[in-house]
Amino acid sequence: MAKLLQVTNLKKYFPVKKGLFRQTVSEVKAVDDVSFTLYEGETLGLVGESGCGKSTLGRTVLQLIKPTSGEVVYRGSNLTDMNFRELRPFRKEIQMIFQDPYASLNGRQTVKQILQEPFQIHQLYSRKEREERVQEILEKVGLNKEMSNRYPHEFSGGQRQRVGIARALMLEPSLIIADEPVSALDVSVQAQVINLMQDLQEQYKLTYLFIAHDLSVVKHFSTRVGVMYLGRMVELAEKSSLYKRPLHPYTKALLSAVPVPKVGSKRERIILEGDVPSPENPPTGCTFHTRCSYCMNVCKQERPNFKEVENGRFVACHLY
Ligand code: SF4
Ligand code: MG
Repeated sequence: MAKLLQVTNLKKYFPVKKGLFRQTVSEVKAVDDVSFTLYEGETLGLVGESGCGKSTLGRTVLQLIKPTSGEVVYRGSNLTDMNFRELRPFRKEIQMIFQDPYASLNGRQTVKQILQEPFQIHQLYSRKEREERVQEILEKVGLNKEMSNRYPHEFSGGQRQRVGIARALMLEPSLIIADEPVSALDVSVQAQVINLMQDLQEQYKLTYLFIAHDLSVVKHFSTRVGVMYLGRMVELAEKSSLYKRPLHPYTKALLSAVPVPKVGSKRERIILEGDVPSPENPPTGCTFHTRCSYCMNVCKQERPNFKEVENGRFVACHLY
């Protein structure tokens, strides 16, 4: 499969400012040395507890926030060094769907205005063509054209997220970064929205970076799955091998919380001790060592490298 996106040693550190003069006293390593490849047409599920840096990673890939260091290369072009003007064509190519459609849609605009806005920004199409595009996309996301003159508050959560998806599609992107697109929705609606995203992926040949906070959401949908903990990628693998035989102790714990569908089969639940440590003051060595039941001496001192241990399978753990 062709490479669409290459992320290399990406870091995003936020300064922590305190005191009267707002001096920088420390930093939060929200994304800390993350590398991965995205292949055309795949869905990479990105999973981790809240605060693990997955949203920051998504936004940094899109250059909505500039990384501290590292590279994001899209189809051979390095986005990291580009200024606002140079990034413009890539802003069409890479779109984002947000968790909270309430917050991400302008409540004072009608659906039609919301959906036409990207055309105005990029000065595309005539008025008539814009109208036609809106109708066409609304239909694709399962909404009808009468809805185009209504406001977001007149819709249900699921419908609003369909509008969010429609907006992301307006400029015919190749890559969509979906940041917990179904987390705010009722369980019954979640499956509908995921099915829709899958249909659209086929129709428009989309590639997804799909961010979620647990492994059950991305299970059926992903091609590969990456697991993040405290700003770092700790495991990345083909979906089937990750679910069948997780390697990293953190992945094992996350997976043990996913219900097993087969009657009679049972997975032992691994309860993680303690809370996620503060990203402002992460543990030394392997940042997971304070909660890991396999912890060895080396784990407290040395940070394990993220390395390929089997074909296409990466893990950051001293056990491997
Ligand atoms: Fe556990 Fe050590 Fe592996 Fe970290 S490196 S996950 S502490 S075994
Ligand atoms: Mg988030």
